[in-house]
Amino acid sequence: MAFRAFSFLLPRRHRPDENRPLFVQAPSEPPHFRRARADMIRHQLRSRGITDIAMLRAMARLPRHLFLPAGQQAKAYLDQAVGVEAEQSISQPFMVAIMTQHLKIQAGNRILEIGTGTGYQTALLAMLSHHVYTVERNAGLYDLARERLAGLGLANIFFQLGDGSAGWPQHAPYDRIIVTAAAPDIPPPLLDQLDINGRMIIPVGDRTEQQLIVVERSAGITTKKSLIQCRFVPLLGRFAWVI
Ligand code: SAH
Repeated sequence: MAFRAFSFLLPRRHRPDENRPLFVQAPSEPPHFRRARADMIRHQLRSRGITDIAMLRAMARLPRHLFLPAGQQAKAYLDQAVGVEAEQSISQPFMVAIMTQHLKIQAGNRILEIGTGTGYQTALLAMLSHHVYTVERNAGLYDLARERLAGLGLANIFFQLGDGSAGWPQHAPYDRIIVTAAAPDIPPPLLDQLDINGRMIIPVGDRTEQQLIVVERSAGITTKKSLIQCRFVPLLGRFAWVI
């Protein structure tokens, strides 16, 4: 109690409420992984203009190697996307960081994520927001991600197996929407499910190359801004690339 009352006197890293929602069950790990994460933050993210401190802190704590198949873990902190199960990939750390930074997440936000994949981006969103609703179409990836995220003690995530190009209307509207697979256009149901004052980030383009688009919605208007070129696996579904 006394500790809590005077916690404002402590250095930031010792404040009890600092890392809400708490992310407590990170298993012990060989020290080289922690060092690799610190290098990743410095040389891949900060050096390229990533400045969101809360997010960088979360990325420094999140064991990215646990989201990769056993044989691929050595590649977890490299400056590249890495192939994972079901011929999908975990995005390059810089891509995860720039997308998350441009979402401008606030602690009370409810976020819809389309394309759970490994669950790495999901974990990061969950560490920074109130609730994450994540949709994945591949059953194998869905099961693996649920298992991993439960193992890390992240309890503010809701999972859905299905076609995320239609969003998840039952829990709409969302403050933030992030799509981590590439669509030919912004799926109309996702725009409908974005709240006023909401932000969405989505790669839009053809199957080989896309632009990362930030959508901002306010009372009367919706604006779209293109950020950078990118390459994502396709969003397959009714309102995207039809299978
Ligand atoms: N953010 C993930 C990477 C996702 S890769 C990570 O950090 O690991 C893109 C994911 O989108 C793949 O898992 C793919 O199966 C999924 N996907 C593709 N089309 C989808 C759809 N219509 N609905 C939900 N998920 C979809």
